[in-house]
Amino acid sequence: MKRKLLSLSILFLTLASFLSIAEVTRYNVKTVPDTEILNFSYVTDLSSVISPSVKDSINFYCRFAKDSLGAEIAVLTLPGIDTGSYGSLHEFGTELYNRWNLGDKKTNRGLLILLVTNPDEREISFVTGYGLEGLLPDAYCKRIQSNIMVPLMRGGDYGPGLLEGVKASCGIISGDVVLPDSSEEDDDWVGALAIFAMIFLGIMAIAVAAVRAEKKRKERMGQSLTCTNCGVKGNMKYDRYVVLVRPTRKSVGTGRYYFICQNCGEENYKDVVIPKDSDGTGFAGSAGGRPFVGGGGGRSFGSFGGGFSGGGGASTRF
Ligand SMILES: [Zn+2]
Repeated sequence: MKRKLLSLSILFLTLASFLSIAEVTRYNVKTVPDTEILNFSYVTDLSSVISPSVKDSINFYCRFAKDSLGAEIAVLTLPGIDTGSYGSLHEFGTELYNRWNLGDKKTNRGLLILLVTNPDEREISFVTGYGLEGLLPDAYCKRIQSNIMVPLMRGGDYGPGLLEGVKASCGIISGDVVLPDSSEEDDDWVGALAIFAMIFLGIMAIAVAAVRAEKKRKERMGQSLTCTNCGVKGNMKYDRYVVLVRPTRKSVGTGRYYFICQNCGEENYKDVVIPKDSDGTGFAGSAGGRPFVGGGGGRSFGSFGGGFSGGGGASTRF
């Protein structure tokens, strides 16, 4: 009798574990939560496959895309979509894009990058807004996916794969990276490596330019300050930037740049207005060499400017 009970319970346990493995959380566009978006992040990681540091890096490039390239990029991972309601991941993505209204209303420069992680349905999809279709045509989306993202993701490196995909997209949107036109080269590794190298160089150039601009801004700010303690003007060293009041859709925020007087060591500061709908940090945080912290940047939901996608983009299963 005891043995029978034991084997029964083993059977139940096996069944239960089988069911829990087989069961994939499936989303429709209405059940994708806004929590991450409201939490000042461009990344919504429902599959929990992106490490905090990689997430920070993705946010860095998304913020850069918004501030410097005028393009809104959002990243979403999810275990699965409700396959009964959508014919494809791309169809799901297009609907979600238009629910979130990525990109500015006038320019429609938005890009939604989706990843389904369920092992049986692994797929990447890019959905582009009308304003990006020219710069980032479907063929380019496809090449970023198959040449750059899939090789990383096949090995399980989902976060790094998404990060490289965002970087490559930034490079192409910026115009600093031009993909060679020979599609036959796509399949061989030399071609893929060349593309990767070009994108990397392009991104480095952009990042260096952005960091330089922010450094200049701080230098100018430091030069304009007169020490409240010793009265010496312009002898300041930048120390840190803090968001005092985070902006919202309706109200501006306040940021504070701290400087140390090189004459007497006194801490001085200068407050700046952060525009409505802005993430509040811009490059201020990143250019100081500190890593982005969770919630340290991003955008309010309202800053998704009302953009629309007609279904541009591409998908790759892997
Ligand atoms: Zn001083």
